[in-house]
Amino acid sequence: MKLNLIAGEWVGSTQSTSNINPSDLSDRIGDYALASGQDVTDAISAAQSAFPAWAQSSPELRSDILDRAGAEILARRDELGHLLSREEGKTLAEGIGEVARAGRIFRYFAGEALRVTGERLNSVRAGLEVEIIREPEGVIGIITPWNFPIAIPAWKIAPALAYGNTVVFKPADLVPGSAWALADILHRAGVPAGVFNLVMGRGSVVGNAIVQSSQVRAISFTGSVQTGRQIGMACMERGKKVQMEMGGKNPLIICADADLDAAVSVAVNGSYFSTGQRCTASSRMIVERAIHDAFVDRIVQRLSTLRIGHALEADTDIGPVASAAQLQQDLEYIASGRSEGAELAFGGQPLNRQTEGYFLQPALFTGATNQMRINREEIFGPVASIIRVEDYEEAVSVANDTEFGLSSGICTTSLAKASDFKRRSGAGMVMVNTPTAGVDYHVPFGGRRNSSYGPREQGAHAREFYTALKTVYVTA
Ligand code: NAD
Repeated sequence: MKLNLIAGEWVGSTQSTSNINPSDLSDRIGDYALASGQDVTDAISAAQSAFPAWAQSSPELRSDILDRAGAEILARRDELGHLLSREEGKTLAEGIGEVARAGRIFRYFAGEALRVTGERLNSVRAGLEVEIIREPEGVIGIITPWNFPIAIPAWKIAPALAYGNTVVFKPADLVPGSAWALADILHRAGVPAGVFNLVMGRGSVVGNAIVQSSQVRAISFTGSVQTGRQIGMACMERGKKVQMEMGGKNPLIICADADLDAAVSVAVNGSYFSTGQRCTASSRMIVERAIHDAFVDRIVQRLSTLRIGHALEADTDIGPVASAAQLQQDLEYIASGRSEGAELAFGGQPLNRQTEGYFLQPALFTGATNQMRINREEIFGPVASIIRVEDYEEAVSVANDTEFGLSSGICTTSLAKASDFKRRSGAGMVMVNTPTAGVDYHVPFGGRRNSSYGPREQGAHAREFYTALKTVYVTA
């Protein structure tokens, strides 16, 4: 059994969970300890005790540890990518890519640890100087979803540690394998006891205990809107700093002047790769009437060539859905789309493969309106709709008619339309002739409206969440 990491020790538990491969339900990856309420209390106390020394440690020490962790992750990308794809179900190429990204994030923040700056201003009053300095916040609770089992933990843990905070990390219970491997790497990279703690387990037990604790200064959460709302309210009541990245219902506009082949590639990648289980997936394709029929023909043709299968097989384009509950949810949304009058132009059927797994043929709806449930709520699976519009103006208005605002995209050969859409899109990230999913690690990530709350993640802007400002007045 893989154990929790608390105060620098691997700690056992009377309860455990089995990590099962969604491509092959007979493949049990391993058993992972479930943390108890006492374990969480111990982890938070350890993080609290370790905080003063870590906060005052040399940035060179923190940088070296993060650099070592990043180097090991990169060196083991194939093996860790295999583990990730085995437990989550994205293809091996996607799993290895995600691990590499996690390694790069650690290396990036190894550099950022050395670049914490302040400001000095002349006071408006004679004889005074003013300094603005950044300090770590304290103990950070990190709560992550299952769809990026190593990249999302990396983009929260690396900046938290780089800026001198201590961490209590609760990964999604569906994918403890990558999280445990990351904890093992950080432990061996030399993170001092208590600075980083891993507590695996259920959200309602472990996650909730972290959120409730008065010793945890700030919570960084990624997951569903529903859970985010609960956590946000609890943090507000307790005066905690909180950052939340949540769902999406991301639009991709295909203009009449788009390069159609390129647009089909952008749409298929953005909507269906990683089995559509990305918060940035383009689940609403908004297509101008003039090219609507041609676009539908080509995308259906492309979808029919995709190979859906075991995530670890070399020729698989799309792996399984991550869990039975997720598959059930996808099928319910497909039934809902049909009952609301959309036409299922492709897919939507569960598939049998050599191994028993949660395989689902990617589903494409046509004749859908933006008011249908399938276009209002996040499905989080390989299910997307085409919404036909008269012109570019209507496309922009449909794109922005959503309670979410994470990512948006446009396929066009018109510079004027691309520039206009960049300004008018209501999303936090805008993609021109490139999929709505797939982002760099050194620039801000995040959205607006119900998609995100609080300061941005990733890149140098991550410091806004992981540091607190202090203003100092000095009489010269
Ligand atoms: P989820 O909200 O069910 O769970 C997320 C995490 O919160 C898990 O670790 C879970 O155990 C924990 N949790 C659950 N209840 C809790 C509680 N009461 N208190 C504290 N913690 C609790 O989400 P999920 O199903 O794991 O992930 C899918 C969701 O994540 C989708 O909505 C997706 O859009 C979103 N997501 C968003 C982004 C982004 O950056 N915007 C990125 C990836 C995923």
